[in-house]
Amino acid sequence: MPSAARHANIPVFVPQLGCPHACIFCDQKSITGQAGFDPAALDTAMAAVGKAGKEREIAFFGGSFTAIPRSLMITLLERAAAYVAEGRAAGIRLSTRPDAVGEEVLTILRHYPVKTVELGIQSTDDRVLNAALRGHDAATSAEACRRVKAFGFELVGQMMIGLPESTPAAEEKTARDLVAYGVDAARIYPLLVFPDTALFDAVKEGRYRPLTVTEAVARTLPPYEIFAEAMRPVIRIGLCESDGLRHTEQVAGPYHPALGELVLNEFYYRKIAGWLSGLTNKPDKVSILSAPGTLSQVIGQKKRNLRRLEAAFPGVALTFGESERAAPRQLIFITKEN
Ligand code: SF4
Repeated sequence: MPSAARHANIPVFVPQLGCPHACIFCDQKSITGQAGFDPAALDTAMAAVGKAGKEREIAFFGGSFTAIPRSLMITLLERAAAYVAEGRAAGIRLSTRPDAVGEEVLTILRHYPVKTVELGIQSTDDRVLNAALRGHDAATSAEACRRVKAFGFELVGQMMIGLPESTPAAEEKTARDLVAYGVDAARIYPLLVFPDTALFDAVKEGRYRPLTVTEAVARTLPPYEIFAEAMRPVIRIGLCESDGLRHTEQVAGPYHPALGELVLNEFYYRKIAGWLSGLTNKPDKVSILSAPGTLSQVIGQKKRNLRRLEAAFPGVALTFGESERAAPRQLIFITKEN
């Protein structure tokens, strides 16, 4: 799992197609740099990945896929299904709104190799949803998740950190609700501010202050821990290029190209510091083993975690390694005593 674990997609952006209006923070045209939708976008994306695409899913992102005009939606599904049938892609995934996954459209999706439906839930606090001009409430999201699962699709829940009116408690509740709604995986997006959005105006007028990167990391961590505890992979933290993010120079707020890594660094730091703090007699030496591929996350960027731990627990010599024995996100602590 977790992280920020890399999930390979062949993204095809349908900027705000199907959206009944713009949510307060959203300008997919700014995010993706696409002014409109080119129906050839799928073929262009497939040509770019060639045979390398066969392990990946064709991902219709950046709009409300199930709310776009039926004829265009079906044309895209037909073409994508043909690529899957040719063995050039593993399946189809799409993102959409919770109020756009009725039985009729889910029945259509079932005729195609759609494996995963991603729902932009963003928050399960109605006050936050209202402030974001989402146009649906939390009960709609709960019902949408139930329906998507009942139709047999894998469900990914997307949530945001730092929306207007939101609080750390509301974000933790959103993560717990997503787990209860049965999401198989999650994406966590700290809120960025794009030009030409109502949120941008709110910042200019002093009605909204974007989070800093440090604040975004601190507020993302508890929801991440909730998903980790519930064994739900967090497949992305923070908008990045694979979400179509271009022109990062136009973005205000907590943009960092490796935000997920920062959250994971903090996750492991707290695990280690918490374990060491709980020991009455501190050992001289501790070896810490983590799952394969996670060593740099445990030690931290530029060994920051190591330095912080050495400062907090002087006299404890720490060594780190990876082991198949460690499950994802698990740490194994080895001291002389154990
Ligand atoms: S956040 Fe999603 S539903 Fe809202 S405008 Fe953007 S793409 Fe559409």
